[in-house]
Amino acid sequence: MTTDTPTAAQPIVHMQQVNKHFGSLHVLKDIELSVEPGEVVVIIGASGSGKSTLIRCINGLEEFQSGHIEVDGNPLTPYGKSSKALQTIRTEVGMVFQQFNLFPHLSVRDNVTLAPIKVRGVSRQQASSTAQRLLERVGISDQADKYPSQLSGGQQQRVALARALAMEPRLMLFDEPTSALDPEMIGEVLDAMRELAREGMTMMIVTHEMGFAREVADRVIYIHSGQIVEQGPPAAVFDNPQHARTQSFLSRVL
Ligand code: ADP
Ligand code: MG
Repeated sequence: MTTDTPTAAQPIVHMQQVNKHFGSLHVLKDIELSVEPGEVVVIIGASGSGKSTLIRCINGLEEFQSGHIEVDGNPLTPYGKSSKALQTIRTEVGMVFQQFNLFPHLSVRDNVTLAPIKVRGVSRQQASSTAQRLLERVGISDQADKYPSQLSGGQQQRVALARALAMEPRLMLFDEPTSALDPEMIGEVLDAMRELAREGMTMMIVTHEMGFAREVADRVIYIHSGQIVEQGPPAAVFDNPQHARTQSFLSRVL
């Protein structure tokens, strides 16, 4: 007779001793980080602390020099530019940037259907119907025939979100998704992200929206000068930071 012992789910992101340099600048220092399926991790820290670089290493937009990164079981190796795993990771990881990075010459619908058709081999009809559903989900289904330049920043960012979701990602990375938006548009983007978190998407979010972080994060990570200085549930990090550097950072931003 065998007994089924529950095994912990494989983490979606697993980083061990990751170091990243830009020339002589040591930008990520011995990063140890695991993200579990369904977890929402918010990364905070001062400008230049390495938040974007950390996020970008996870989908292979930046090389790293030592350590190990696995995304959904696919290994990224240091300097590993052309690995097969990298291609897999790129299709499994969605990313939303500060600048929306939409294709300006494509309609909203075509922005959302392009990658599923080209990369996943989905039929145009199937991709269009998925796009329609995703655009509805982020509240802009009536904008499908417009071009990005005809939309507000908040609408463009929601298209970017729908575009990423169209690839059915296992993980969503956000790098300051609301930093380029006018204040009145921040809420609509955060609402869409909140909804995604509620549905169980695994998310890593770099943001300065501390109220949002407190509300949606399972874990908040504070980075200073390329090092994870402190992490924990939002209430612990925001209300009772243990490290002097975290206290000082929070006193400036809260
Ligand atoms: P953050 O997102 O926290 O503001 P970044 O990850 O963008 O920080 O940058 C971390 C450090 O790496 C900064 O000192 C930045 O100037 C430097 N840096 C970022 N990208 C590059 C690059 N492509 N070349 C050289 N230095 C870079
Ligand atoms: Mg950044």
